[in-house]
Amino acid sequence: MCGIVGYTGSAQAAPILLEGLGKLEYRGYDSAGIAVRGKEDISVVKVTGRIAGLCEKTDNGKALEGCTGIGHTRWATHGAPTEGNAHPHLSNDGRFAVVHNGIIENYQTLREELKGKGYHFDSETDTEVIVHLMEMYYKGDVKKALIQTVNRLQGSYALGVLCKDEPDKLYAAREASPLIIGLGLGENYFASDVTALVAYTRNAVYLEDGEFAELTKEGVSFFDCLGQPLAKQVSRITWDVQAAEKGGYDHFMLKEIMEQPGAVKAAISPRLKNNAVVFEELKLTKEDLAGIRKIVITACGSAYYAGCSGKYVLEALTHIPVEVVLASELRYSNPLIDASTLLIVISQSGETADTIAAMKECRAKGARTLAIVNVVGSTIAKLAEDTVYTWAGPEIAVATTKGFTTQLAVLYLLSLYFSKLLGIAGEDYAAHIRILKSLPRLIQQAIDMNHSLPKLAEKYHRAKSLFFIGRNTDYAAALEGALKMKEISYLHAEAYAAGELKHGTIALIEEHTPVIALCCNRRIMEKTLSNIVEVKARGAEVLAVSYRDNPKILSVADDFIFIPEVEDLFSAIVEIVPLQLLAYYVAKANGCDIDKPKNLAKSVTVE
Ligand code: GLU
Repeated sequence: MCGIVGYTGSAQAAPILLEGLGKLEYRGYDSAGIAVRGKEDISVVKVTGRIAGLCEKTDNGKALEGCTGIGHTRWATHGAPTEGNAHPHLSNDGRFAVVHNGIIENYQTLREELKGKGYHFDSETDTEVIVHLMEMYYKGDVKKALIQTVNRLQGSYALGVLCKDEPDKLYAAREASPLIIGLGLGENYFASDVTALVAYTRNAVYLEDGEFAELTKEGVSFFDCLGQPLAKQVSRITWDVQAAEKGGYDHFMLKEIMEQPGAVKAAISPRLKNNAVVFEELKLTKEDLAGIRKIVITACGSAYYAGCSGKYVLEALTHIPVEVVLASELRYSNPLIDASTLLIVISQSGETADTIAAMKECRAKGARTLAIVNVVGSTIAKLAEDTVYTWAGPEIAVATTKGFTTQLAVLYLLSLYFSKLLGIAGEDYAAHIRILKSLPRLIQQAIDMNHSLPKLAEKYHRAKSLFFIGRNTDYAAALEGALKMKEISYLHAEAYAAGELKHGTIALIEEHTPVIALCCNRRIMEKTLSNIVEVKARGAEVLAVSYRDNPKILSVADDFIFIPEVEDLFSAIVEIVPLQLLAYYVAKANGCDIDKPKNLAKSVTVE
């Protein structure tokens, strides 16, 4: 998520920090700020919106004097994207300034503890606990205070720390969020990625989880959580700036596909405590839920397909009937909705115009609203009575990938949570929790198992039409798989419920028509197999998505995408990942503009 930068040397820090932040803009952010150690104190300037605003406010950095400083672009996770919530955050005594990327999962407990000790909070962020912990532990040794502080944190962080008492020094620490140290001549830097560094140095040290760095203009020393010195290897940055912005990937879409194990983990892990699902953010009570007779899910595009997938899980675990309705249809359908309806609204951006309109229509009819969104402080998040964030981090490619899988992860979590709240959680509750925990690993395996996808794409990229078929949860995944293919490769791709083909569409199957057959739901696998045989008999070229130990599939399909074993109910989140990759490689083979497909926008704010 977003970015941090740090500079210490003999030049003015602020212009360098601003330039570095500018290089990190592509990562997506909603507000920004810098802190510089001036003659006496630390000066902080923050803005909501663009870096340009920060440049304006500081006369391109000239207004802030000082040669050591830190900067931040924030992608809000805790608290709206306001100036008050923007980083850097200051300690109550003004001694420390901190920038942070990531999420502190135990911030609520720490916040209560610190409030109890008299610290006051100026923001709603999880980050602010860090700077107060620094103040609390500081007894004249910043390094010691930092180690003690970090020992108290659970979650992910890339941290930059500035202390008034050490005017020419910076500290950095990392756990599960990227942080790179740049080594210059008479000056040193840190940044979230090399884009912000390449203009100044090509010598970099990659901090690992649990490692710290202390920077002065003369040099950088590294240490571990016991304060023991570490010898770190210096790497040469060879990427050109363009490539580095995409973290070395050719496209943001590929980068975001690869980020899914981490993104799904970020969505799931803060909501699992003591082997149960917890949603501290939900106001919806047991009594409210007991009064719900029907759940309506509304959304557009991929979010709608996340809803189609979620329906199976919600109905199976909560026994409440679920309808999934396209927002653009729902808004004009005079829906039969009242106070006994729970409306679940799904939108990555939280700004989808059709979804907002459908939501307003249903609220007016008395529905209780719960939003699943990625962008904090967005319109839908503000309109809903309850909001659950997907915490996928900024998604830049127009075609959603991690946005979609994190929506699914949240729907799975909600299904389990509701089942417990309703008192109908079955014996398999504990097993389901274990499966949710394993999803990031299974997604990674699904990526690792499919290195032959570029080759398969070579075979299929000239197809006139592709059909995606599956039943039940496989069908829901097929819908999204076909949409990915359409969006970025411009091929005609149609998803069909496998059993429905014979009622019409099978007429379109001819010699060599590609059929992508999703066959991961074991309960109805035999049925899908029959449909595969039907299309084979008409000359189709079948690419099956299934498990390695499925001999029947092995004997009928022409090509294979394998995924690791996963429980039927939750298989869609794993099987969609290689299909995203397939769409990606087909689009690449066709020379398409993958990150910005024609006619599409990331956030559809018009009707
Ligand atoms: N969780 C922090 C916040 O909401 C940091 C977000 C970020 O990585 O920018 O302020």
